[in-house]
Amino acid sequence: MADPHLAEVDPEISKYIADEVRRQHEKLRLIPSENYASTAVMEACGSVLNNKYSEGYAGRRYYEGQQNIDAIEKLAIERLKALFGVDHANVQPYSGSPANLAVYFAFCNPGDTIMGMGLPSGGHLTHGWKVSISGKYFNAIQYGVRRDDHRIDFDQVASLAREHKPKVLFCGTTAYSRIVDFPKFAEIAREVDAILVADIAHISGLVAGGAHPSPVGHAEVISSTTHKTFRGPRGGMIMCDEKHRKAIDRAVFPGLQGGPHNGTTAGIAIAAKLAMTDEFKSYAHAVVDNSRTLSEVLLSRGFDLVTGGSDNHLILIDLTSKDVPGKVAAQALDRAGMVANYNSVPFDTRKPFDPSGIRLGTPAITSRGMGSDEMKRLGNWMGDVIEDVENETLVTRVAGEIKDLCDQFPAPGVPTK
Ligand SMILES: *Cc1c(COP(=O)(O)O)cnc(C)c1O
Repeated sequence: MADPHLAEVDPEISKYIADEVRRQHEKLRLIPSENYASTAVMEACGSVLNNKYSEGYAGRRYYEGQQNIDAIEKLAIERLKALFGVDHANVQPYSGSPANLAVYFAFCNPGDTIMGMGLPSGGHLTHGWKVSISGKYFNAIQYGVRRDDHRIDFDQVASLAREHKPKVLFCGTTAYSRIVDFPKFAEIAREVDAILVADIAHISGLVAGGAHPSPVGHAEVISSTTHKTFRGPRGGMIMCDEKHRKAIDRAVFPGLQGGPHNGTTAGIAIAAKLAMTDEFKSYAHAVVDNSRTLSEVLLSRGFDLVTGGSDNHLILIDLTSKDVPGKVAAQALDRAGMVANYNSVPFDTRKPFDPSGIRLGTPAITSRGMGSDEMKRLGNWMGDVIEDVENETLVTRVAGEIKDLCDQFPAPGVPTK
């Protein structure tokens, strides 16, 4: 059968992909949840593994022909167990949100009480926010950050937990620039007999590389994406103590999903292998160093950072003092070659679709090999553009300078020609 290449079959899609390759090469990717998967990971994702159905788990499948798939999935699991020091790993969740849904399904019935950090404070939708299934199908109690320093309000976490006795307590964040204190959460969870779930979607690469404390030994269950700081394929994973292994596996399949995405599983195995190297440890620490350096430059330019700085990969800027809405700033930055996202800040007085802040992070630019010199240039470009958002001459000049910088730092997995 004829089997021509994409450019021939579908020139429209082919052109959009080529344009996206160029966009990813010549702009600075500052969205903290984004990164570049390596060429090796991309090869696995685009392989014939796509074609195989493998419902079930290694040795217990519902279709024949699993000789290679079983080996791949076992490797992914064994590598994650060694890397994070956990009893068990499930690599089948399609992404971070389905991983969390599987966790709820493993331990809760509809209407049960769950607890997580509210979206406006930096939590994720899936931690019980009202528009998400986690907020609609469960009695979701939400904690937040303190008004004075915007750090997690542990007095509130403890008092809400005592009052509502959640079955599961989620910790882990999506827009929070500080270390998550897992032992403190564990103490509260123990007191009220809740299962502590650490969602390390953003920071799993930092944890693997030793640049953020690990939740292992504190949280009984750990959920994550695999495509953020972990630098793997788009996917999800759940790690847990042996006593929860059966409940988690059953919740993912047959509870929530059908066949796993085997190319993704292979990609996770590859990312886990790469995350065990010294090079990855250096990467994880460089992400945090870069975030700190960039924070310092931004502070020196008069920006107001939520919590006053960053201990991880992420920076949340409150632009109220600069009198520029987050969306206007994010759009000007994008035109200038710096791709961030507008974001609510804690206790935001503006609406979620037009909030006061922008969120940025260093995982992707650090994957390109950028360091403190580049962070200094970047912080000043951001300052120049945000302080003069309507100056298109400036935007065009900065975009050109950024393109030159990007040419010196090609991104992993992104072809340059
Ligand atoms: C990104 C993220 C998720 C969801 O991951 P998806 O792959 O987008 O579904 C879940 N939890 C947290 C904390 C996240 O940051």
